[in-house]
Amino acid sequence: MLDLKQIRKQFPILSRKVNGHDLVYFDNGATTQKPDSVIAAESNYYQNENSNVHRGVHFLSGLATDKFEETRITIQNFINAKHSHEIIFTKGTTDSINIVASGYRSLLNKGDEIIISELEHHSNIVPWQMCCEQSGATLKVIPLLDNGTLDMAEFGNLLSKNTKLVSIAHISNTLGTINPIEKIIEKAKAVGAKVLIDGAQAASHISINMQSLDADFYCFSAHKLYGPTGVGILYGKEDVLNELPAYQGGGEMIKEVSFKKTTYAGLPHKFEAGTPNIAGVVAFKAAINFITGLGINNIAKHEEELLKYATEEVLKIEGLRIYGTAKNKSAIISFNINELHPYDIGMIVDKMGIAVRTGHHCTQPIMDKFNIPGTARISLAVYNTKDEIDICIKAIKKAKIMLS
Ligand code: PLP
Repeated sequence: MLDLKQIRKQFPILSRKVNGHDLVYFDNGATTQKPDSVIAAESNYYQNENSNVHRGVHFLSGLATDKFEETRITIQNFINAKHSHEIIFTKGTTDSINIVASGYRSLLNKGDEIIISELEHHSNIVPWQMCCEQSGATLKVIPLLDNGTLDMAEFGNLLSKNTKLVSIAHISNTLGTINPIEKIIEKAKAVGAKVLIDGAQAASHISINMQSLDADFYCFSAHKLYGPTGVGILYGKEDVLNELPAYQGGGEMIKEVSFKKTTYAGLPHKFEAGTPNIAGVVAFKAAINFITGLGINNIAKHEEELLKYATEEVLKIEGLRIYGTAKNKSAIISFNINELHPYDIGMIVDKMGIAVRTGHHCTQPIMDKFNIPGTARISLAVYNTKDEIDICIKAIKKAKIMLS
């Protein structure tokens, strides 16, 4: 059992008021709040440890490098990667996907195919469209079923020997669907395709194990995982990363530079050009420690209970429809009420101190599928409570009355 009071105490922002009310923060899919330990790690880095990494012989440079590399090991353990050099620090999930998609521009040719799905975040759509434009490859899309799950039969039909890469979200940020990625990876591997899993919505909610999963690439952002913004990781299997062309050129990613020929550094530095977000990486470790301290399975259980309770309660509101009703679902509830505009609902509950997200959630193809302009979205995290759900439901009911 998690001690919710104790957990909430670690998040200073949760005790602030918004519009005269206690804050109810239900926009965790966009970004989570940060515990004291993460804020302290970032601040302590600048107060006591700041220097550039990998470059100096002096004390502080060594210290900063050690701290930076400690996070890599922490993440390696967190996702059970085989090697620490399979963890590349990036700006976040979007950056991670772009590194791979950019590399594939020169690995693919006309006739090759990439498969994504209809439920992807724009950051797992647009980089592949750009990759296809430049390589001549074709983008194929697994359609969504009405309950917000992927049409796996159609996925089977799309796969062929031409499929070079399959890139799929572990969890949909709009529908909450937990995709059957084990099955997807198995099927993709059967035709020789590589697989990228966008774990932006998964890493803080469910356990991830790279060695049992067998994905070629996996990525997530620290800021959706109680960590700082502007930092994330790209995991890649050693041999796959070695085959992937370098992304950005510059300092840190080279072995030797001359005007005749430049050679590149090995992993992970080949993909880490320039001075990274060192403070962010250092604080990323504190975020992972926060999660492992609570236990990812305890977090998952708590969020599952919240999801069940919130789903039952919102469905009592007449005219409310939930988009995404998969059996295997994360704590995300996207909804609309009759013809009411989700933006208006979001504005009214905000006046009562409640943060929910409204709009297309960077998933316009999902909106097209359901023929709606947007939804209101509740996305929960470990510090949320049933009491907060009650407050939110009351506010939504009030909004419905005011707008009807
Ligand atoms: N993929 C999914 C499923 C997401 O939910 C998000 C962010 O909402 C992203 C990718 C992009 O993450 P970031 O903005 O941190 O790069």
